Amino acid sequence: MKQQQKIVWSGADERKRQSKPFDGEKVYDACIIGGGVIGCAIARELSRWQLSLGLLEMRSDVSEGTSKANSAIIHAGYDAKPGSEKARTNVAGNQLFEPLCRELHVPFRRNTSLVVAFSSDGLAGLRELKSRGEINGVDGLSILSQAELRRREPAIGPSAAGALLAETGGICSPYELTIALAAHAVLNGLDLQLNCKVGQIRHDGRWFHLQTSRGPVRCQVLINAAGVYADTIHNQLSRQPIEITPRRGEYWLLDKSVSDAFSATIFQLPTAMGKGILVSPTVDGTMLLGPTAEDIDDKDDVRTTAQRLDEILRVAAKTWPDLPRGQFITSFAGLRAHARQNDFILGEVADCPGLINAAGIESPGLTAAPAIGIELARLAARRLNAPRRSQWQPAWQPPQPFRLMETEQRARAVRDNPAWGRIICRCEQVTEAEIRAAINRPVGAATVDGIKRRTRAGMGRCQASFCTPRVLAILSEELGVSRLELTKFGNGSRILTGRIGETVRSHEPPAADAAAVGLEVSHD
Ligand SMILES: Cc1cc2nc3c(=O)[nH]c(=O)nc-3n(C[C@H](O)[C@H](O)[C@H](O)COP(=O)(O)OP(=O)(O)OC[C@H]3O[C@@H](n4cnc5c(N)ncnc54)[C@H](O)[C@@H]3O)c2cc1C
Repeated sequence: MKQQQKIVWSGADERKRQSKPFDGEKVYDACIIGGGVIGCAIARELSRWQLSLGLLEMRSDVSEGTSKANSAIIHAGYDAKPGSEKARTNVAGNQLFEPLCRELHVPFRRNTSLVVAFSSDGLAGLRELKSRGEINGVDGLSILSQAELRRREPAIGPSAAGALLAETGGICSPYELTIALAAHAVLNGLDLQLNCKVGQIRHDGRWFHLQTSRGPVRCQVLINAAGVYADTIHNQLSRQPIEITPRRGEYWLLDKSVSDAFSATIFQLPTAMGKGILVSPTVDGTMLLGPTAEDIDDKDDVRTTAQRLDEILRVAAKTWPDLPRGQFITSFAGLRAHARQNDFILGEVADCPGLINAAGIESPGLTAAPAIGIELARLAARRLNAPRRSQWQPAWQPPQPFRLMETEQRARAVRDNPAWGRIICRCEQVTEAEIRAAINRPVGAATVDGIKRRTRAGMGRCQASFCTPRVLAILSEELGVSRLELTKFGNGSRILTGRIGETVRSHEPPAADAAAVGLEVSHD
């Protein structure tokens, strides 16, 4: 049996490394731009080969782009146009998902999906989707009558006339998956560089020369997995430009108290803009409504809007007439990287040898990620003529969450380490021990959102109002930095802006803290 590598990970050392400029030029055989699910899936697969491998991510953590904000559905594959890259990689990715999540210790559930027709006119659309799915190679598709549908999902709206059942549909945690992919790659030699924005790129025929916010990088194979920014990377190196439009999708999230309303993911019939508004359970027991679809100009604009959130409620009411409006806990938005050709752009660029694109990866990109990872890693390794590694470290296994432990296990954990007995997030029952472990692990958390996505602290009913000061105190202690320096998600998103005492005494806040005066709450 393979043994877990005995390495002590220090969040403090890692934070220092990730916040300073490189010592000199970084040289890699292969380098990936983008730490979303696609870049991390490629990195994990590429770490099976003997080569030097870098991944450059401009944000302070992996999974800070689209991979943190989507529907989290592992699509069956009936929706994509037959013969497209989307169809091919969706079906292949769906089959790879279950073993991958098991290997990476990431939650996944094959909860099935249903596409519901809300009038008898829609039944023809269901049959069309079913035959498209069969052409794409999707197993387990069948049409349910109104009665069968209602038996499975009693909360469904009264106008539901029938549904397409996809038995291979599933749900997962997209950010936990992305973090786990990155961590597994790091354990196998990936040099992950965060806070590292790629600017200008030049190709001299053999090497790619990258200017980044942390210093120069050189590599022989460059993999473009930059999400909505993939066009700005590609268009610097190719005379055949591509265009990526951010297509924003907004969501509502409902509390765990309504988790048993539906067991399958419920879609309405798809439209030209996407798969429409769904109602779906999540692997964490909450319920998701959305997304909308709106083309926008700003590649960073993940605001939600009253108009679109209302639209979700209006449309979702057809699926779920008894939608409990008092149970919303938050709303959020993500950006689809929509390519003009309406398909994934995968593979080596014809007029720039060595540049490999994973561009235009909108939905079903999460589902397709395991298949894209394997395919593009093989392509890069072949190009570099790299041999396979003989040894590959197994994936990192985070401690079992306290909320999922049996009473006996809890008692044992607290006996061994009293930090297991100190609850930091009351809503999600996250303990101090879990938060410290989330910081000191491969690809550990250095921000409040980083803790949230690794432990669920702050994701519950109160949305972090109780635990934020406590999480800040632990981060500050483990990382060896003042609480005033800590951020929600890097990039200047400081949570505390000054100490009330000092501010009041001096009448004039110190220059660095002059913008606003925040509240610092003591841990004790
Ligand atoms: C509303 C919505 C719903 C969706 N629902 C589903 C679903 O249910 N199922 C499904 O299969 N798929 C779904 N998707 C699609 C899926 O989320 C995406 O396909 C997937 O997350 C894309 O991953 P990525 O790695 O390509 O992009 P990202 O996660 O955005 O990663 C790209 C990374 O590149 C970094 N980057 C960009 N430019 C630079 C630069 N110059 N230098 C350094 N780093 C850079 C970014 O910071 C970012 O972290 C949905 C998408 C949206 C928006």
